[in-house]
Amino acid sequence: MHFDTKAIHAGQHPDPTTGAVMTPIYQTSTYWQESPGKHKGYAYARGKNPTRTALENCLAALEDSKHALCFSSGMGAIDAIVKLLKPGDEVIAGNDLYGGTYRMFTKVFAQYQIVFHFIDLSDEQTIAKCINSNTKLLWVETPTNPTMQIVDLEMCSRIAQKHGLIFAVDNTFASPYLQNPLKWGAHIVMHSVTKYLGGHSDVIMGALCLNDDDLYQKLAFIHNSCGATPGPMDSFLVLRGLKTLHLRMERHCTNGRKVAEFLKSHPRIEKVYWPGFESHPNHHIAQKQMRDFGGMISFVLKNASLEQTFKIASSFNVWTLAESLGGVESLVNHPATMTHASIPKAEREQAGVVDNLLRLSTGVEHIDDLIEDLKQALA
Ligand SMILES: *Cc1c(COP(=O)(O)O)cnc(C)c1O
Repeated sequence: MHFDTKAIHAGQHPDPTTGAVMTPIYQTSTYWQESPGKHKGYAYARGKNPTRTALENCLAALEDSKHALCFSSGMGAIDAIVKLLKPGDEVIAGNDLYGGTYRMFTKVFAQYQIVFHFIDLSDEQTIAKCINSNTKLLWVETPTNPTMQIVDLEMCSRIAQKHGLIFAVDNTFASPYLQNPLKWGAHIVMHSVTKYLGGHSDVIMGALCLNDDDLYQKLAFIHNSCGATPGPMDSFLVLRGLKTLHLRMERHCTNGRKVAEFLKSHPRIEKVYWPGFESHPNHHIAQKQMRDFGGMISFVLKNASLEQTFKIASSFNVWTLAESLGGVESLVNHPATMTHASIPKAEREQAGVVDNLLRLSTGVEHIDDLIEDLKQALA
């Protein structure tokens, strides 16, 4: 079945009791048992809920994975992956991660003697040099946030396989429409479902998609034991959002291209980060592993102070200054003080997150309105 059809139908069947076409919101915490232990597959809703099951099956279909698990947030999903590790284990991750992931690794899990290395993942030798017998997990984001670097998934998979590492990919920025890391050898795909998958800026959720049965059993155990599981209403909202994922992504991509090209030719802009440009250093990798280039774009203002950058960030009418991304509405974000504020200044600037950088999540509005608003804000 094609992606577009799976986005609408996978995991969903008319409700057996009423024939309801849309999967109902099973708003219950517990389920009747005919005799102790004898039930219809559902006992207590932290562990399982039918609305969530439909969503997990739909997400698994979209990532072409055997299993999926939904969490109450993207961070909850990442937390479960790190809980596969034990004290002394080491993790290799990119040096321009989502700020919340960096914060969790360095402020929460470092306390449990898990060791994190944040390195440039563009070079195979650099990664190999960082690996020792304690290394257990390779954590990759691509495109990276906010400088849109593309990490070669095939190369990472080769390294992970050679050294017996778990290879996990945060696929939030691409969504399963643009990229399927399992196809390139990843073991676990993580999503902040909050972003493109939910798509309407009205729900917080995370997910893991994977094929390996053993890893799935371990993660499902952590999922239920630690309890970061989402409720039925949120599951319903995402099931509903997913039905237009392919349509939204198409428009995010066409709008994204036009916005990127507009910014590139603007005299007040020094640099535009978008993997669709032929001049992007990793354009060929993006072409290999992605279906299109998405609507996430960052740009550096020419000789702009923090105040001037703030002034531009605050002067939009159609674009909204807000954290997050991937919704139908276009958003502007100032990474240095918003999404990436928890990363120390020196480290942040080394990764390109300078004070005069803005990040855009191009929505699905009419392109002319988006460009007009950029024009007046940059005037
Ligand atoms: C938002 C985000 C997360 C965290 O997800 P939440 O749903 O906010 O917990 C992780 N990684 C990336 C790339 C994100 O954009």
